[in-house]
Amino acid sequence: MLYNNLSGYLKKKYGTRLKKICVDGGFSCPNRDGTVGVGGCVFCSERGSGEHIEADVSIRCQVEKALASASDDDKFIVYFQNFTNTYADVSTLKARYDAALIDKRIKILAIGTRPDCINDDIAELIASYKSVCDVWVELGLQTANDECAKRINRGYESSVYVAAMDILKRHKIDTVTHIMIGLPGEGEEELRETLSLVNQVGTWGIKIHSVYVAEGTRLAKMYRSGEYSPIGLDTYAKRAAFVLAGISPDAVVHRITGDCPKDMLVAPEWNSDKNKVIEKINEELKARGLCQGSCYAKAK
Ligand code: SF4
Repeated sequence: MLYNNLSGYLKKKYGTRLKKICVDGGFSCPNRDGTVGVGGCVFCSERGSGEHIEADVSIRCQVEKALASASDDDKFIVYFQNFTNTYADVSTLKARYDAALIDKRIKILAIGTRPDCINDDIAELIASYKSVCDVWVELGLQTANDECAKRINRGYESSVYVAAMDILKRHKIDTVTHIMIGLPGEGEEELRETLSLVNQVGTWGIKIHSVYVAEGTRLAKMYRSGEYSPIGLDTYAKRAAFVLAGISPDAVVHRITGDCPKDMLVAPEWNSDKNKVIEKINEELKARGLCQGSCYAKAK
């Protein structure tokens, strides 16, 4: 096995692949509403990275709709995806998570958020759901390099990620770290820095995203003005293989490429063929005799 992928992990733990129900929880983001920034991260679209999810539908309806055609044996992950899904007071968060957990076939509650929207009270609430289902919190780190973080308007320093990971780990909540390959101005050295930080804090899972330029984003303007050029597929595959070889052998690899809706993709063209990207990364790993964790000791 080249890497410990999510579907293999789920199959082993739950006896089957789980289906994902992506939910728009009706949240905003402090990096958009002026609390920590305006305009958001340069790659983020107006729908807060959940373009395929129907807008303005209640949480309960979104889940019910997804369950309508399911069989009794199906099992599900509910994933709060759009924007910052811990950006509210604890009682609001509880009401919204409760609205999604309406069926015993839901085995995992996954919550995507920013590290600066995690505190002990929120972590305690999230941990309380462990009596009902498994729980993950997904943190959008993207890069450990604070210069690059400024360039992409992330709106927090990497030390905030370390602090959030500490809180979540104290509450025994599994964490998934999102990182991006191909960010403006980033090369192998910055990626090494990101990998090293993710290993140091001991993320449970990792999502590796290729940077793509989506229509309507600030990155699209940077691309059109010549301020940003996406990396090529060969470079992406090499860097993704580097991350996979350097990440802990115990980490669960949730994804290894980005997934832009085709009608929103501006560039790079190669991003539209997910299978080809995955194949290329696998070829790269095989050609270099690498697998997940084979360079972990060096990367820490
Ligand atoms: S933190 Fe997430 S939702 Fe907010 S601007 Fe950045 S990518 Fe978008």
